[in-house]
Amino acid sequence: MVKIYIDPGHGGMDPGAVANGLQEKNITLQISKELQKILVNEYENVSVKLSRNKDESVSLQKRTDAANHWGADLYVSIHINAGGGTGFESFIYPRVSQRTRTYQKLLHNEILQQVDFTNRGEKQANFHVLRATKMPAILTENGFIDTKLDVERLKNPRFIKKLARGHANGIAKALNLSEKVEKKYSGRGNSLYKVQIGAFANRDNAERLAEYALKLGFNVYIIEE
Ligand SMILES: [Zn+2]
Repeated sequence: MVKIYIDPGHGGMDPGAVANGLQEKNITLQISKELQKILVNEYENVSVKLSRNKDESVSLQKRTDAANHWGADLYVSIHINAGGGTGFESFIYPRVSQRTRTYQKLLHNEILQQVDFTNRGEKQANFHVLRATKMPAILTENGFIDTKLDVERLKNPRFIKKLARGHANGIAKALNLSEKVEKKYSGRGNSLYKVQIGAFANRDNAERLAEYALKLGFNVYIIEE
């Protein structure tokens, strides 16, 4: 089971950055919940935990302790920027492993593939959540809450979904997640099209064919009827 820890920045008494009628804590939670949904629904063998599931105060120490205790494979902290500027940037702790650098690059690029944010670059910083985590950790700053151009995007639920999709695609690439069969072969809407390649009276024959299909790279399962 691949364990992914998602950390919606701020919450409760700490709203994070506030401007233009928006609070950072609410946007980070929206993106995180959407991200959790995509990962759980569309990928095999993943377990996802959030540092908070609602609007509540959780200390930074509690967040990193929980991820370390759980033994997460990846920590993704989601934030919205402030202070004047526009676009997207990501952070890792200085002097981390090559693996963490690669993860950052993958997430960074996949997110920018989904949204038309200015690329502010892959950066490093001595943030608590990056420093106190035992697993690769990445922090994303998804636009500026005090910049009109970015705020108009962040107010759009479709844009939030795209941000989540970008994070999910990056995480999937970084951790080599495999898509669920239902997702791979399903059409648009709720239709599900399954492909059957054999039916046998003898289970050995079914297993032989399944093994062959598996070797060819298909996701295979045998159903007894
Ligand atoms: Zn923040």
